[in-house]
Amino acid sequence: MEIIKEGPKGVTEEGRKVATDRCVEYKEAIQDYIDAKKNIPCGLDLNGQYESNKTRILSVLKAGEHEWNDWKWQVRNQIRDVATLAKIIPLFKDEFDQIKKVEKEVRWGISPYYVSLIDPDDPFCPVRMQSVPSIQEALDSSIVTEPETILYNSPAPCITRLYPDRLIINVTNACSMFCRHCLRRRDIGSENVLYARESIKEAIAYIKQNTEIRDVLLTGGDALMVSDEYLDWILSELDGIDHIEIKRIGTRTPVVLPMRITDELCEMLEKHGTVYLNTQFNHSREVTEASAKAVEKLTKAGVQVGNQTVLLKGINDNKHVMKKLMQDSLKIRVRPYYIFHCKKLEGIRHFRAHIEDGLNIMEYLRGYTSGMAVPTYIITAPAGRGKTPVNPNYILNTNVDGQVLFRTWGGHVMKYDNER
Ligand SMILES: *Cc1c(COP(=O)(O)O)cnc(C)c1O
Ligand code: SF4
Repeated sequence: MEIIKEGPKGVTEEGRKVATDRCVEYKEAIQDYIDAKKNIPCGLDLNGQYESNKTRILSVLKAGEHEWNDWKWQVRNQIRDVATLAKIIPLFKDEFDQIKKVEKEVRWGISPYYVSLIDPDDPFCPVRMQSVPSIQEALDSSIVTEPETILYNSPAPCITRLYPDRLIINVTNACSMFCRHCLRRRDIGSENVLYARESIKEAIAYIKQNTEIRDVLLTGGDALMVSDEYLDWILSELDGIDHIEIKRIGTRTPVVLPMRITDELCEMLEKHGTVYLNTQFNHSREVTEASAKAVEKLTKAGVQVGNQTVLLKGINDNKHVMKKLMQDSLKIRVRPYYIFHCKKLEGIRHFRAHIEDGLNIMEYLRGYTSGMAVPTYIITAPAGRGKTPVNPNYILNTNVDGQVLFRTWGGHVMKYDNER
């Protein structure tokens, strides 16, 4: 093969100059982000802070490194009383009483690991806002507008079906921590339940009878709150159905309980053919060494990890914060999949951003960063009518003298010849 010294031919001196000018524009287009991102630390850079929090938590809970890395210990020692929390992070004025008030209405609980990601000095720490109850939850007594999605969309026990070729099996309502913004808040109830083998068997029987189903999502709650054995059994049942092509697991453990991703779990998952896992990172602070390790293990076992962020006011409803999250998650091999608009549910309305905010964020992702860092922004339609993408509009007119008029990410209006 011939070796050409100066790279591909055809670029003139004039061409280089135009390209150089365009690059000035590109640099300008990203300058605000370069400035802003300095103040949005990634968890990977906060090891020192997390380690000192961990030491403090372990001394309060009278435990050591060995226990910390044991996910069952993390679950048993979920922090769910105010007195213990107050020993770990300083509570602000009135907060003690406010949490007491909220917990009468809805439960709360945080894994020690997730508590260790809280910045003790920041009342608006995004990890804190997702995990420590706020008085706003109790003040909001608005009517629940969410219709009974389950009531009309569950053709068999534990199943939710909203689509032609895929469905959900709910395996438990348990979670390793109760996200304050949880969109399934009502299913959390007052106790953890595991759905009985009998019910799951009925769900499997339904799937066997309906051969158009090719994709099954195991979720909850958090699908990884059940034992490896139980999960292994369900996955094996699904493996035995010819028309099931892929399986998915919905779990927040890579974010809130990364020690759940054990070698044993990964060995088990690896046996079950094509398994995808979707999780929920909502802020760069959550992208930690521990999460990176968990994702690496899953990836090595052939399990691709995707991210379903929830758009949350005060946490990630900022274009720079969201972009940083998408980029930081990609650093640890987590592929952005969805950004969900927050539903209008009792107790979580203070987390709601406007759809315009979400559209602005999307506008600011496409073109400005890697396409791989651009998820689909989703509104969940009422009455269980399904996930609906909402996107900034790039098409301006579909027929201007036979041409399509559109705008680019950078704001150039262009005509596109649509003829053959
Ligand atoms: C979210 C969801 C799915 C999966 O939807 P995708 O867009 O394929 O990720 C399937 N079934 C139900 C009931 C769901 O809520
Ligand atoms: S892990 Fe998911 S289901 Fe569980 S509390 Fe958080 S958002 Fe809700």
